[in-house]
Amino acid sequence: MLGATGSIGASTLDVISRHPERFAVAALAANRRWEALLEQVRRFTPPWAALLDPAAAHELSAAIKREGLSTRVLSGEAGLCTLAALPDVDTVVAGIVGAAGLAPTLAAARAGKHILLANKETLVLAGALFMTAVREGGATLLPIDSEHNAIFQCMPPRAESGVQPRGVRRILLTASGGPFLRTAHAQLATVTPDAACAHPKWRMGRKISVDSATMMNKGLEVIEAHWLFGVGADAIDVVIHPQSIVHSMVEYVDGSVLAQLGNPDMRTPIAQALAWPDRIDAGVASLDLTAVASLDFSAPDPARFPCLALAYAALRDGASATIILNAANEVAVHAFLDGATGYLDIAAVCETTLSRVKSTPVHSLEHALAVDAEARRVAGGVVDKSTQHRHIA
Ligand code: NAD
Ligand code: MG
Repeated sequence: MLGATGSIGASTLDVISRHPERFAVAALAANRRWEALLEQVRRFTPPWAALLDPAAAHELSAAIKREGLSTRVLSGEAGLCTLAALPDVDTVVAGIVGAAGLAPTLAAARAGKHILLANKETLVLAGALFMTAVREGGATLLPIDSEHNAIFQCMPPRAESGVQPRGVRRILLTASGGPFLRTAHAQLATVTPDAACAHPKWRMGRKISVDSATMMNKGLEVIEAHWLFGVGADAIDVVIHPQSIVHSMVEYVDGSVLAQLGNPDMRTPIAQALAWPDRIDAGVASLDLTAVASLDFSAPDPARFPCLALAYAALRDGASATIILNAANEVAVHAFLDGATGYLDIAAVCETTLSRVKSTPVHSLEHALAVDAEARRVAGGVVDKSTQHRHIA
């Protein structure tokens, strides 16, 4: 479990704890919250654990010894990659947030694991390279992002990862519209990080919650869908569906539209992928359609959600624009969460960074990481400028 202490990690461990006869936790990995990981180590007693931060890993290791547990602790990116490729691990849940998830998820692909992919940034940053690693490593890719899991369930059985199945006309990605779907535009300049993270339907980590408010999350998901299902930008449509009951749809050439429905609870897609092709209890309540009463659909407003068009343009660019966009967005969202920049600056920082960093074809992981670093540097400068402006104003 990569990203064990996060929201995806908690949902995954909840499903796993319901099926002790079926699953055993081999390894838990996270960033630096060693006390939270220690709690999980006590509960699941995995043979291995890892923290990115070496000092936190040291604390964890000392505490594990004090308590007489036998879990061995690794640290650093190399430690996380080692755990993702352990020979006796068959399934890796990629639940780290951001570009930091790329290296260990790639290690899992090369080692031929079943990969339950939540970390969409892996595909946004290195879609072609990652899909090649999945194929060459003999890995199996199972999406757990709720929309992509829904699409996976609506696709023909035995569809190959990354190849558009015959008969599919288009994908319809649903979006809740987030907390600011109807907020007056004048108010958006002053919304707080807590308001942006107060998602009406899903409880998630803070970064993806802000992405949901700006709809950058949906933009990243368009790119994710392109790589997972081999479908071009023109055949992926986004539709706003505030109830978050229809998790996405696939339209076929005969006019059939298949949808997957359920309560908005990440344990459903996680359980679907963990047990695939079987089905297991996820602890999720039955869907009460009469209580939901109506399902609404509308087109996203491009003026309210400029990040969506930026993501489509980056995907159509076909070169490194998606890396630049993702890096600029991570920098801008962290600045917003730290109170250093405003909500409307997020889209502006992305747009300015895209115009300043030249997009070039990506041939290697090293190149992708170099573009990512360059875009972060440029985006950081753009954020600093906008911060100075705010202080002068
Ligand atoms: P979160 O912030 O709740 O948790 C992030 C996890 O990643 C934590 O365990 C943290 O320790 C770990 N982490 C952070 N930085 C790291 C680093 N540099 N190295 C190693 N580990 C690091 O985030 P989340 O909401 O669980 O989201 C995780 C991923 O899943 C994201 O890519 C997100 O887009 C995707 N996702 C989440 C949801 C959801 O419901 N939360 C839904 C769909 C997709
Ligand atoms: Mg999603």
